[in-house]
Amino acid sequence: MCEATRAVPRFGVAGWEGRIVVCGDCGLGRSLPLPSDAEIASWYPEAYYGDAGSKFESIVEVMVRVVGGRHARYLSRGLAPGARVLDVGCGRGVLLGALADRGFEVHGLERDPAATRGVDPRARIRIAPDLASAGYPAAHFDQVIVWHVLEHLSDPGGTLAEVRRILRPGGRVVVAVPNFSSLQARWAGASWFHLDAPRHLYHFPLPALERLLRRAGLVPRSAHHFSLRQNPFGWVQSALNRRAGLPRNALYVLLHGRGAGEPLPYDARTRRRLRLAYLLGMPLALGLSVVTTLLRSGATVHVVAELER
Ligand SMILES: [Zn+2]
Repeated sequence: MCEATRAVPRFGVAGWEGRIVVCGDCGLGRSLPLPSDAEIASWYPEAYYGDAGSKFESIVEVMVRVVGGRHARYLSRGLAPGARVLDVGCGRGVLLGALADRGFEVHGLERDPAATRGVDPRARIRIAPDLASAGYPAAHFDQVIVWHVLEHLSDPGGTLAEVRRILRPGGRVVVAVPNFSSLQARWAGASWFHLDAPRHLYHFPLPALERLLRRAGLVPRSAHHFSLRQNPFGWVQSALNRRAGLPRNALYVLLHGRGAGEPLPYDARTRRRLRLAYLLGMPLALGLSVVTTLLRSGATVHVVAELER
């Protein structure tokens, strides 16, 4: 991305023979080698998307919907009534439904039809392996949302170039990624929850993301460091990952919804420990997330960039 030719191996990844290497110049992290499409597909089992439009335990699901509504309100600020919005990697369309409630024309792209099961009928969904193959017209959208998707793609630069093409002049793109240069990422190292390797192929320090946007012809206007949904949980789960004797991302797995009749994971004592860590850890993690927001070092960030008129 920065045209450097030297990278330093940083982490191995359990269950995958590649490495995460980091650019000595810009700090961008990347899987080496980049996995094949078949390998990538094997990391997204149908269960990854949850059953019939529900991904988490019911109480967490309620929170996801409440936070989804706030999220939609936030993302619709400054948009004209009836604006045309595309969510790249829309999943089961929680956000699109909330944006449709606010009167926008909502479009979604996914590469796996299984991911969109139960999606809001107002969302116009296309299925394609990547954004360029979806065939959207040029200068078509008022806003494109790329929310925790760019790090999953093998060609993030090419994707942003296509975003630029399909945005109308003056339109904006909102890109959210885990922040590889954040305090949380640096503290947790290989234990970082938001590393999500090997599914994440790229690990962006915020300045590298801004640089990639500029290279695609998009002008970063603001960077935002607070995420109630992602950042406090990242502290708790990363701290648990640093402890020996617990399976990686055990708390996330415990909170993750299961099909009817599927047994709970782990033994009762481990589950009690995890739930206790969640209850005691979240208030502290929330405080840490506020502090790191003030330090402009959010564990996940989103950047709003604009296509100049
Ligand atoms: Zn670089």
